[in-house]
Amino acid sequence: MVRPKLRSGKRIRTKTPGGKFPIRSVQKKPNISKCASCGKTLRGTVRGTQVEVRRTTRTQRRPSRMHGGHFCHTCLKAKLIEEIRSQ
Ligand SMILES: [Zn+2]
Repeated sequence: MVRPKLRSGKRIRTKTPGGKFPIRSVQKKPNISKCASCGKTLRGTVRGTQVEVRRTTRTQRRPSRMHGGHFCHTCLKAKLIEEIRSQ
């Protein structure tokens, strides 16, 4: 029996060194991160399981600008301009 976490995943057959083709379950990939304002997919962010994300370096996980990985660059620009004009 497969682990409960992997049960909803895809099933593939891979050849083992012994020549058998057992069924293996593959964990699903999480969704691509999207902009919190407009819903566009964000680039420069890591897509993967928590372990895969942890394996990358901190600078590879999201853009280094403010609100990077949360808002896209166009939404951030619009929000900053709006904030400054409201003061
Ligand atoms: Zn956006």
